[in-house]
Amino acid sequence: MTMIYCRECGARHSDKAKACPKCGYRTFDASKSIVVYLILAWFLGIFGIHKFYVGKTNQGIVMAIMGTIGWLLIIPGIAVCVWALVDFIVGICNINTPEKILNNN
Ligand SMILES: [Zn+2]
Repeated sequence: MTMIYCRECGARHSDKAKACPKCGYRTFDASKSIVVYLILAWFLGIFGIHKFYVGKTNQGIVMAIMGTIGWLLIIPGIAVCVWALVDFIVGICNINTPEKILNNN
């Protein structure tokens, strides 16, 4: 166990805590990396792999369907490309606040 500082209030708490005990600010799974997320979003984004990576399974399933059989209807296939690109850009914009992207809530 490692003690970390809350990004919101500065209180020290365990890195195992899901949220800061003082202010409730949610911590994130430090085993996940924003860089891995961005790589997955860029290369495998239309299959929703980056969504599965951060535990957003439902969104991942929707993206996987849109990115595969969705191409039969063209529009869902194009839409999932835009969605994956937006996820990538939002990820880049939050590269210094990865908890906003990596939190599954
Ligand atoms: Zn706090």
